[in-house]
Amino acid sequence: MLTTLREILVPARENSYAVPGFDCVEDVMVRAVLETAERLRSPVAIMCLEGDLQGNGWHYIPGLVRAVAPFHDIPIALHLDHATNLELIHRAVEAGFSSVMIDGSALPFEENVKLTKAAADLVKPHGLSIEGELGHVGGADLEATGHHDSIFTEPEEVVRFIEETGVDALAVSIGTAHGVYEAEPELNIERLRELNAVSPIPLVLHGGSGTPEAQIREAIRNGICKLNIFADSRIAMARGMKRSVEGFTRPDPLPRQLFGPIQEEVARVAAEKIALFGSADRV
Ligand SMILES: [Zn+2]
Repeated sequence: MLTTLREILVPARENSYAVPGFDCVEDVMVRAVLETAERLRSPVAIMCLEGDLQGNGWHYIPGLVRAVAPFHDIPIALHLDHATNLELIHRAVEAGFSSVMIDGSALPFEENVKLTKAAADLVKPHGLSIEGELGHVGGADLEATGHHDSIFTEPEEVVRFIEETGVDALAVSIGTAHGVYEAEPELNIERLRELNAVSPIPLVLHGGSGTPEAQIREAIRNGICKLNIFADSRIAMARGMKRSVEGFTRPDPLPRQLFGPIQEEVARVAAEKIALFGSADRV
């Protein structure tokens, strides 16, 4: 069933596990993730990125998730990932998202507070949850045309940011980056402990793909309640596509022969993340 991010992250914090957040594009990914999460009894966040919502994407992706959520008896948050302006937040409310992230992390602190509070004021009357970001998780942008440095989250800013904005979850920067890592990341667990000690709300980690498993476990033990995954799903899809192309035995393969291996590989990654994050059997 469809639920808010707040509803699935509060129990995650109480019981020291993390809910996986998967950036998804249409049916191949959405179905693989939801059916895997249901099989493993895990709460899950299905996330959308602006680039995939262009045109009718605003109807197709959230429309699909909303339509199928009642047939899955696990909590599902439908979350807009990385909105950077209020127009997108407004569209997310209209499209029926249950949760949004407003990303003002590239802005100076005061402007981040202002944008995040405005977004919270916009969504709260409609019952949506909201995630903000403090500090900045850098890395490659999605088109792999640019690279941004990360800035660690400062513990002194956390309480004021949360109080002044009213966010339900906070994405923090402790050493992960977006995209595929060139060198192994090293998470600053000490910093995470400090952030978690002062934060009244659940913490979120972006750039979860490719982070060594031992570090992921440490991060979850020290307060991370949601981990975002995208690059690992894309790698899985590429692997599935290669398998399906290599497996062609006829010139007109059936759609399930084309998409089946892709779905299987995405499902495999979803199952691995659910096991690693400790979110199985929590429903
Ligand atoms: Zn992110």
